[in-house]
Amino acid sequence: MPGYEDLESRIIDTGECTVCGACVSACPGSHIKLPDGKPRRPKRAMDCVGCSICYDACYMLRHNLIKEIEAAAIGRGHRDSVGLYRRAVMARTKDPEIARICQDGGFITTLLTYGLRSGMIDGALLVVGDGWAPRASIARDRDEVIQAAGTRYGPVPVLKTLRAAVVDEGLGSICVVGSPCHIQSIRYLKHKGLPLASPVKLTVGLLCRENYQYSCLVERLAAKGVDIDQVDKLDVSDEFNIYTDGNLVSFPVTEVKGCVPRHCLVCRDFAAEVADIAVGSDGAPEGWSTVLVRTELGYEVLAGMERAEVIDTEPMGEVAVIEEIADRKKEKAKQTREIFRLHDQGLSEKEIAARLEITAERVSHRLERR
Ligand SMILES: Cc1cc2nc3c(=O)[nH]c(=O)nc-3n(C[C@H](O)[C@H](O)[C@H](O)COP(=O)(O)OP(=O)(O)OC[C@H]3O[C@@H](n4cnc5c(N)ncnc54)[C@H](O)[C@@H]3O)c2cc1C
Ligand code: SF4
Ligand code: SF4
Ligand code: SF4
Repeated sequence: MPGYEDLESRIIDTGECTVCGACVSACPGSHIKLPDGKPRRPKRAMDCVGCSICYDACYMLRHNLIKEIEAAAIGRGHRDSVGLYRRAVMARTKDPEIARICQDGGFITTLLTYGLRSGMIDGALLVVGDGWAPRASIARDRDEVIQAAGTRYGPVPVLKTLRAAVVDEGLGSICVVGSPCHIQSIRYLKHKGLPLASPVKLTVGLLCRENYQYSCLVERLAAKGVDIDQVDKLDVSDEFNIYTDGNLVSFPVTEVKGCVPRHCLVCRDFAAEVADIAVGSDGAPEGWSTVLVRTELGYEVLAGMERAEVIDTEPMGEVAVIEEIADRKKEKAKQTREIFRLHDQGLSEKEIAARLEITAERVSHRLERR
């Protein structure tokens, strides 16, 4: 029976681990910790019984199930390269407090405050900051939801708080907000019927081109004379944007490519394709969120928010913008896997570049973070 050692050798040590946190929550004895930002069972604990629950909880070992999970969770809808969806809108919060602190249109924070107020959910797994350093959190009320508003870059084990939310806090209707990799993971746990996942009633995914290691970002910003503690807001489009004291500093996103974790280089999901609702900024004007509603439940939630007049919505004009980004991400993931495969066969960087008709720099950049 495969156990923690197999998870470590196949996923954690190979850089496939997305740091979703599912194995941490799944272990009944809480043996798995994140000492170096990766899941580790620090030493073979006496009561680690080699039960294989952590191994079974990792969706990265079962990526081939994604279509089956999508069919079961989403069912029907219009399909294109951003996945299946029933409705695409631009949305903006009507709550002035949320508008001041949110990342884009404040759709997510408004959804959560609406969900808590209406009783649809009794808590959420979110990401808050120690300064800009991201950390997984559980929110049970408006104040805790508001604290989590805004985007913080860095991989976060969002699902590591699932056990505490369900077992310690007794939450029974949870919303998980996370990157597409977090949403794939929680969908897999629900699909598999893990009892710990059954209180998760709603999933909200963020559009995501890639992520950046937090400590690496801090160094790159410092090299540009930017102290992260003085930053008001960070965002990434085709440029990396830093807002400080009302000023905007932008630089090409290629300058932080070295901070992208290995697992993001092979990730194919830009648009959180198995979330109930996917939310981002690409495709929407400044101050608005792009919202793709995928499931019946997601449809009802958006309609409820409109009826409660907590958001403004407009039909989404340009889905083509996000389709193009989604296509590029899938293509890049495929190319990166091919680079790794050819490298394993013993081809040099130059030979790989020639074979794939790309620059040697692109090849070495991907291999550097293998
Ligand atoms: C790593 C990353 C990459 C992204 N890349 C893109 C992109 O390429 N294109 C695009 O359109 N949008 C991207 N987004 C999404 C975008 O930054 C906003 O989160 C989204 O538009 C929602 O805005 P909002 O105003 O509705 O959110 P808010 O109301 O401000 O709420 C934001 C929510 O995001 C959650 N969150 C913050 N940081 C993280 C994190 N590191 N991991 C998981 N959850 C987090 C918080 O829990 C909070 O509830 C990315 C987000 C992240 C975290
Ligand atoms: S007790 Fe089971 S779930 Fe926990 S680390 Fe050991 S094998 Fe994994
Ligand atoms: S379950 Fe998540 S955190 Fe654990 S090894 Fe798999 S991808 Fe990594
Ligand atoms: S690029 Fe993929 S693996 Fe990386 S944070 Fe985004 S969804 Fe997760």
